[in-house]
Amino acid sequence: MLTAEYFDGRSARARVVTLSLVGGVLAIRGDGISLSFVARDVEWPERMRHGPRIARLPDGGSLQCRDVQAWDAWALSSGRGESWVVRAQQSWRWALASVLGLSVLLGAMYVWGVPWLARVAVAATPLSVDEAIGESALQSLDQQWLQPSKLPADQQQRLRAAFGRATAALPPGSVPTHRVEFRSGPLGPNAFALPGGTMVMTDALVELVQGDEAVLVGVLGHELGHVQQRHGLRLLFQAGAIAAVASVVLGDFSTLLAGAPVLLGQASYSRDAEREADAHAVTVLKAAGLSPAVMVTFFEKVAAHGRSERQGGAADSKTDRDHEGPARSGLGIAIASHPADEERIRFFREAAAR
Ligand SMILES: [Zn+2]
Repeated sequence: MLTAEYFDGRSARARVVTLSLVGGVLAIRGDGISLSFVARDVEWPERMRHGPRIARLPDGGSLQCRDVQAWDAWALSSGRGESWVVRAQQSWRWALASVLGLSVLLGAMYVWGVPWLARVAVAATPLSVDEAIGESALQSLDQQWLQPSKLPADQQQRLRAAFGRATAALPPGSVPTHRVEFRSGPLGPNAFALPGGTMVMTDALVELVQGDEAVLVGVLGHELGHVQQRHGLRLLFQAGAIAAVASVVLGDFSTLLAGAPVLLGQASYSRDAEREADAHAVTVLKAAGLSPAVMVTFFEKVAAHGRSERQGGAADSKTDRDHEGPARSGLGIAIASHPADEERIRFFREAAAR
């Protein structure tokens, strides 16, 4: 038996009653009150640390008990066990385990969930979105960083033709729509692909390798790998996973379009994406009858160039800081913005030996 206050749900008047719980029936007795309810139909309070216990009755009335300990003891002794949720809430071990579990879940979401989501989102996005993003990104790069190429038109044409011959040797249908553009500017010897298939190569890169067509075909093959796998769009989706899902669901890509140039300027491809693009460079080179070893030469030349740049830059560091552009801050998606590591160079060496 427990003493509690009964409210009939119509008036604010509290009436003292005694409660008993026998055989799954809650009996409420008091002055002029005699009520019975099936215990299952009652909305029982959870055992919390603070506040009175309030049980809601099926007829709209309620029971209230300020003596929390008495209520809990009565509930337990009457065979009203607690739900596992409440027991878990009361246990610090459970609480800690839940927090840890949630952290692991969030970590897994970030590591696997977001990339997975990005892939799904890319697959659901029409290619015209890639193209629109690529166009606006090139426009903003042209306004801020890049200048027109100073390479002779016939040299540009020869390089495009060499790459065209290489891609023509690939299986039909495996070559995505693409376009090779030449630019000069502060990127140094570099090349990058934009979503939609625009591949930009700098004059400085052509000069660094003395116009060696085999090397340039290899570099463009790498960039074509990024285009084929739609790495640019995936990168954007991963950077803004939530907004990306909204874009795909709502079919409104304007937010993505607006943010794309900035994001593409800051982010860089994952190592996996670079590996895929390197593998594609090997495919293109081999299809054209060229040795993947040219990429080893390329990375060595880029590294040597980087070293001489740093030495030159140290003598004139103030000017460098004044002209801080993508060459210094690094256009993350460009091929020469990160030094090639041993693994990458070994990959091309081994591909050449095979
Ligand atoms: Zn790359």
